[in-house]
Amino acid sequence: MDMDKLVSLCRRRGFLFQSSEIYGGLNGFWDYGPLGVELKRNIKEAWWRDMVTAHNELARPPGAPSTYEMVGLDCSIIMHPQVWKVSGHYDLFHDMMVDCRECQGRWRADHLQSGECPRKPSKRPGEFEKCQLTEPREFNLMFKTIVGAMGGEEDTAFLRPETAQGIFVNFKNVTDSTRVKIPFGIAQIGKSFRNEITPRNFTFRSREFEQMEIEFFCHPNSSRKWYEYWRDRRMAWYTGLGLAEGRLRLRDHAADELSHYSTGTGDIEYAFPFLAEGEFGELEGVAHRGDFDLRSHMEGKLDPKTNPLTVELGPDGKPLYKGSGRDLTYRDEVSNEHFTPHVIEPSAGADRATLAFLCEAYHEDQAPNDKGDMQTRTVMKFHPRVAPVKAAVFPLVKKDGMPEAAKEIYTALKRRWVVFYDEKGAVGRRYRRQDEAGTPYCITVDGQTLQDGTVTIRDRDTLEQWRVKSADVVEEIARRVGG
Ligand code: ATP
Repeated sequence: MDMDKLVSLCRRRGFLFQSSEIYGGLNGFWDYGPLGVELKRNIKEAWWRDMVTAHNELARPPGAPSTYEMVGLDCSIIMHPQVWKVSGHYDLFHDMMVDCRECQGRWRADHLQSGECPRKPSKRPGEFEKCQLTEPREFNLMFKTIVGAMGGEEDTAFLRPETAQGIFVNFKNVTDSTRVKIPFGIAQIGKSFRNEITPRNFTFRSREFEQMEIEFFCHPNSSRKWYEYWRDRRMAWYTGLGLAEGRLRLRDHAADELSHYSTGTGDIEYAFPFLAEGEFGELEGVAHRGDFDLRSHMEGKLDPKTNPLTVELGPDGKPLYKGSGRDLTYRDEVSNEHFTPHVIEPSAGADRATLAFLCEAYHEDQAPNDKGDMQTRTVMKFHPRVAPVKAAVFPLVKKDGMPEAAKEIYTALKRRWVVFYDEKGAVGRRYRRQDEAGTPYCITVDGQTLQDGTVTIRDRDTLEQWRVKSADVVEEIARRVGG
């Protein structure tokens, strides 16, 4: 698939715009247009529903070690600066950056091999004779801001680089305010910010993006099984919404990639079309984090290099960054056992998922125009659950009571879904516009409607058309798109 065609469709049809475009744009920031906002909302809503609200804590899902509970949170983006010191982001959340003194280009040191020299695009940075690369330097990815009017160094705060920490610091609030018992998960969807050195590949690497994260708390004895459950469960979520198995893969991190407190991390990856043949990009990371996070927020920043983990000490022999001192352990009411729960973290990106669904949906095929001649059509084959618009309603012509009948159907559908009414231009052109928007069904009111009360429904993918009674349209669409 040609990425340029997708990017141009996204702009032309209002899926995605460059942020602040009229001022030349701002690298790494994107705006979702009228269609894009619906697509992304549907993805986030499908995730929230499938992971949280529709989860039945009374039934054990296939593959799960036991039943479990799920609740949600919505935490602030700016948190106490100590959170990031204790979590390790303040000291460790950096990439190595390389600059070119000749062309002022800037790359992540680990991306040099896939980058191109701005002066000589056929070469990698550093390979052209004029390149003058600097030594790699550390660059912290957290955005800084100032809280309060004074603006001194002590007022520095950070925009969160992940939503996860909000969940950890609220662990006790959740267990105290609800009746959840381990095992349980806390889910959150929200914006995160990373000052990426080289934002690129459309929205894949942005500086502002949304995450959909679960922190799942369980007993250390069963954590490995929960890790496997979540890895498989999350993989199945993407295929269930239409990502092709052949373009997805689950890559388990090799033992030497893992931190020693983790017994497993797997990345769910997608073969994005902007990557070279055979390369995959991360959609979601599923990590076994042991008790690292809860312990850090109790005791202070842990030194990830120590085994067993110990608190990192400063020159004065005291914790370098003090924890909250709060008790974040858990007591099992039945066994009376006291322990620090282990955490499994499925961490997905809403924008990367949206991009994967856009890439997967893009198709070009042949379809007849109004005169019956075959023409190339562009069609976005979204799964009906994520499609931005579920149905479009057209009167065949703007007379003979057709618009009135069509508007009635439109009004009935509109109560439940995002639908679109269109009476302008040739009907073939109207179909084509909906194909590009990824609308699964088009409903047309024609001459026969006025005689026998039936309308045609056209399927976006098969182009099949069939007639149903106007009164049954809502039910028919509900059966096909759900909701
Ligand atoms: P990468 O290696 O691609 O930088 P990561 O391993 O740092 O990603 P995580 O910290 O595991 O990513 O974040 C979890 C998820 O958040 C990722 O799988 C991805 O979907 C999303 N994400 C992370 N960084 C970005 C970004 N800059 N732009 C868009 N989404 C992102």
